[in-house]
Amino acid sequence: MPATRTGGCQCGAVRFRVEGELGHASICHCRMCQKAYGNVFAPLVSAREATLIWTKAAPKRFQSSNLVQRGFCPDCGTPLTYEAPDGVAVSIAAFDDPSDIAPVIQFGTEGKLPWVDGLRTLPERTTLEDIDAAPFLDKLISYQHPDRD
Ligand SMILES: [Zn+2]
Ligand SMILES: [Zn+2]
Repeated sequence: MPATRTGGCQCGAVRFRVEGELGHASICHCRMCQKAYGNVFAPLVSAREATLIWTKAAPKRFQSSNLVQRGFCPDCGTPLTYEAPDGVAVSIAAFDDPSDIAPVIQFGTEGKLPWVDGLRTLPERTTLEDIDAAPFLDKLISYQHPDRD
């Protein structure tokens, strides 16, 4: 992995840089991670051994338990961090290039939803293959921050 990586939220108000090596990447199925991400699991990579620098606005934090805070963009809501006494983990897909940050373990599997393991068997379509969406896509202008500073 490169020694310096960048990333941020969907709107670009919160941006970060990680200097140093990332640790293990994981997904967590626990119910707290499901709610924090509004999703079926939380993909996170440890930045415990690295230096995490907020280069624009800092995230807002929600204290989800006595020991853990969860950082998110105050403007667009993108979940960004899991902050525990032993270090910080960062949302994998918030990185500008998350393609090589592959999870190596699943945590919290007592909360795993019963259909998650079947997702890879579902039919697949790219965005442009969805012909019913063509008129919508024709008018679409993205306001998402680009994958760079
Ligand atoms: Zn944002
Ligand atoms: Zn969890």
